[in-house]
Amino acid sequence: MDKLIIIMPVYNEGEYIYNNVKTVDDLLTQAGIAHQFLLVDDGSKDQSWQEMCRLSQDYPHVSLIRLSRNFGKEAALCAALEHAGGDAVLVMDSDLQHPPSYIPEMVRLWKEEGYEVVEGVKADRGKESLGSKLAATLFYRTFRKSTGIDIGAASDFKLLDRKVLEAWRQLPEKSTFFRGLSAWVGFKRYAMPFKVAPRAGGE
Ligand code: UDP
Ligand code: MG
Repeated sequence: MDKLIIIMPVYNEGEYIYNNVKTVDDLLTQAGIAHQFLLVDDGSKDQSWQEMCRLSQDYPHVSLIRLSRNFGKEAALCAALEHAGGDAVLVMDSDLQHPPSYIPEMVRLWKEEGYEVVEGVKADRGKESLGSKLAATLFYRTFRKSTGIDIGAASDFKLLDRKVLEAWRQLPEKSTFFRGLSAWVGFKRYAMPFKVAPRAGGE
């Protein structure tokens, strides 16, 4: 059976991380999707790492990476993409703002329709400040003008086939932008609108 690796970057998700992973795990198990987790602790200063260790002790299909300090989400994603096995990876935030209920459809588009990249695009940006909305609009416009690639309301909620992962690994960049570079590599893509959920907890 094809195996999906769920990648999540974790920074100060505190007590919530255990249940957040469990929520995704239960949903995938119910949907009959073979999967494993690869969680990256990006130098959390709270109890996230202890909670992640508890998860990997309770569930053998949960693997962990721990960075030596907080390097930022992009670096945490790079560490996981470098080490992930599986037939496809699915990258998502660990605070449940990328709703796991969309995953079965993303997997179907990959397995049955042959899409090599299924990318979550924000149908609605959820709760955020006007400043953050304006900054995002300006950023994506500047990105489109300077690179010629329209990533619109892209997010890091993405499923990548193994082929795409291998192409990503060949990029020599040291300073990466996951949603930009994963658009640049090409492949058969499907843009799936999703509604950004509120955080499961924490800030
Ligand atoms: N994150 C991380 N390193 C950081 C900041 C955030 O790994 O330095 C993780 C965080 O735990 C979450 C995801 O990246 O899983 C998105 O972070 P956040 O919820 O703060 O961002 P937003 O939802 O505002 O995009
Ligand atoms: Mg969030």
